[in-house]
Amino acid sequence: MGLIVVGSIGLDDIETPFDKVENALGGSTTYIALAASYFTGPISVVGVVGDDFDNKHIKMLEEHNIDLEGLKIVESAKTFRYGCRYHYDLNARESLYTHLNVFEKFDPVIPQKSKKNSFVILGNIAPALQMNVLDQLDNAKFTVCDTMNFWINGAFDELMKVLKRVNVLVINDSEARLLSKEPNLIKAAKIISDMGPQYLIIKKGEHGALLFGDNTIFSAPAYPMENIFDPTGAGDAFAGGFTGYLHKNRDFSFDNLKRAVIYGSVMASFCVEKFSTKGLENLSFLEIHNRFIEFRNLSSFS
Ligand code: AMP
Repeated sequence: MGLIVVGSIGLDDIETPFDKVENALGGSTTYIALAASYFTGPISVVGVVGDDFDNKHIKMLEEHNIDLEGLKIVESAKTFRYGCRYHYDLNARESLYTHLNVFEKFDPVIPQKSKKNSFVILGNIAPALQMNVLDQLDNAKFTVCDTMNFWINGAFDELMKVLKRVNVLVINDSEARLLSKEPNLIKAAKIISDMGPQYLIIKKGEHGALLFGDNTIFSAPAYPMENIFDPTGAGDAFAGGFTGYLHKNRDFSFDNLKRAVIYGSVMASFCVEKFSTKGLENLSFLEIHNRFIEFRNLSSFS
């Protein structure tokens, strides 16, 4: 029973008030897979890059027990590229450009060996492609889905079909408001839950996350961070940590989902401490566990 991650793998140019990096490893799948790799493995990545994708990235991913059989490398073609800038309010991101390149014709093919009984994380790709992935799976055990404003506005009907088939939808607060057409997040969560997902997670950037399901709400605290260098990939790191933890212990009780939300928050907090994927490349499980305990102490009271 494997864990499959499908989505973008790319090269990013990122600028913040503190520094900037060019040509850095990025893409939603990359962050998700790295974060999940600290809990379980091998993680099976399904994506596409061009032959300009540096071999050092492949090596680093393989060192994290990430299986790249589902990664297609297209000859004489360019990898997906994304550029963005953050200002002092790191919650607001200005996208500078998106060059889809090989990603424009992305046609996810799940390796035969991963098709059965798998967990899957559907990164932020067109809902029609997410559906295509679900159709290739035989008896999927647990499905986590991300989406964004672009698809909510542009592919609403396809997204509705996907939501009927997923266990968990992970979105941020502005996406939740847009999807539900409701400004109040609690009411929005009810509307979105009626669209199909068994559980809903609403991320609130540096203000924590909410988990809805089983007629219950769990509010995860925000980790008080002094050093946020680059918020890129935080949401993906959250999804990777959350799903990786569940894949490790296969316990879908609400109490365990709460722990998974905290592990997701832990991985997001490590992600933003460094540029690009650097914050997720050299962690130990002890560091992750210690931060989990810190999270617990943050809001425990009697
Ligand atoms: P996040 O900060 O969680 O939104 O995700 C960051 C990653 O998403 C970056 O590394 C980008 O390469 C990637 N990304 C940006 N725009 C898109 C897009 N339209 N489709 C797929 N991936 C994207």
